[in-house]
Amino acid sequence: MHYYSTNRLSPEVDLRTAVTKGLAPDRGLYMPETITPMDLVFFAQLGNITFQEMAYRVASNLFGEDIPAGKLKEIVYETLSFDTPLVPVEPDIYALELFHGPTLAFKDVGARFMARMLAHFLSEEKQTVHVLVATSGDTGSAVANGFLGIDGIQVHVLYPKGKVSEIQEKQFVTLGQNITALEVDGSFDDCQALVKSAFMDGELQQKMVLTSANSINVARFLPQAFYYFNAVAQLKKNYKKIVFSVPSGNFGNLTAGLIAKKMGLPVSRFIAANNSNDVVYNYLKTGVFKTKSSVATIANAMDVGDPSNFVRIMDLYEQDHAWISSVIKGTTYSDEQIRESLADCFATTGYLTDPHGAVAYRALKEKLQPDEVGIFLETAHPAKFTETVEEIVGKGNVPMPERLSEFLKGEKKTVALGVEFEGFKKYLLSISA
Ligand SMILES: *Cc1c(COP(=O)(O)O)cnc(C)c1O
Repeated sequence: MHYYSTNRLSPEVDLRTAVTKGLAPDRGLYMPETITPMDLVFFAQLGNITFQEMAYRVASNLFGEDIPAGKLKEIVYETLSFDTPLVPVEPDIYALELFHGPTLAFKDVGARFMARMLAHFLSEEKQTVHVLVATSGDTGSAVANGFLGIDGIQVHVLYPKGKVSEIQEKQFVTLGQNITALEVDGSFDDCQALVKSAFMDGELQQKMVLTSANSINVARFLPQAFYYFNAVAQLKKNYKKIVFSVPSGNFGNLTAGLIAKKMGLPVSRFIAANNSNDVVYNYLKTGVFKTKSSVATIANAMDVGDPSNFVRIMDLYEQDHAWISSVIKGTTYSDEQIRESLADCFATTGYLTDPHGAVAYRALKEKLQPDEVGIFLETAHPAKFTETVEEIVGKGNVPMPERLSEFLKGEKKTVALGVEFEGFKKYLLSISA
């Protein structure tokens, strides 16, 4: 399979190059040249095969030409060492729980897959490979844990100082081994800009092997299609139109859902559920895409003012606003509305969401039609945001899973950085020596 750059100013590349480079030389994002629907046999068996087997077949469609079957199967089976159960919340509304992985968030799926695919492609590389990742919350922990202990790979996590929760932070600043946390005195967008600049820097390119692990990497964003299939498989007999409501920030998760739809998954439409960072919402309403600085919200993993994956959505739908807005509807909610929905859902159904899931739940409550069944992606365990969630539903109502309390015992170790690229470059040069 060939991968093209969304900017179309760089040549097409193979999977190995797309995965190891992350970003195209023209700063575009890689996309698979063709998306082939799964065959009828596959859909007939959906629901009768395991999640791992189903995901392996989806992965074979996407990556089968470029990775030996046995290796690909191993990568998929190792990645999905946990399930993504579909949980009924109320009539016609389900939560797709994506938090059963090691760091209790959906990013575990893409991060674990990518770490393994990258290790496969780089197994013959002599030099150390440096993975740069900017995080507004959960990416850092998912990527760091995905790569933890993998030989020949060093991970550098850039995160905005003071803008992620203590629990999120602990999951990547305490790991040690091949993981370094860089505490940037700025915003998430600043962190993302630093990473992008590093990839564009000729001197760094020459001296070290750099790769990204943000949702821009095809090996991170495409595997997220797996659990959309798993959701539909678990619905079993269903005669209504299926709607996915996706709490969105950088839009990698939602884009993977669109890929699943292009692969034939029977999804009627998607809801892009946003907090008050509303640039995509505004685009869907007006046809004008205008980035903004991000604003801080209680659903902080979605505080993104310049969502990278938006260009992929534009590409999938040929820049056609009418087409895009027929498939995706947008919503935007204030912190107050998010709190209200989280509280309502808990009070009326007993189901506790995290603040991100609450955004997507509210979108279904408001937008679902009588002939539709809605699935919202519960992207993190509520205990990852204990402080916020307890404020809303009261102390003692948020269970703390054991694998999370383990992280809290670790000791924080970080490197401090400013927002200027020079400082970051100096740091990278110092470790490349
Ligand atoms: C990253 C994240 C999101 C946003 O996902 P995107 O793919 O960036 O749109 C939503 N919820 C949680 C909990 C996250 O960590």
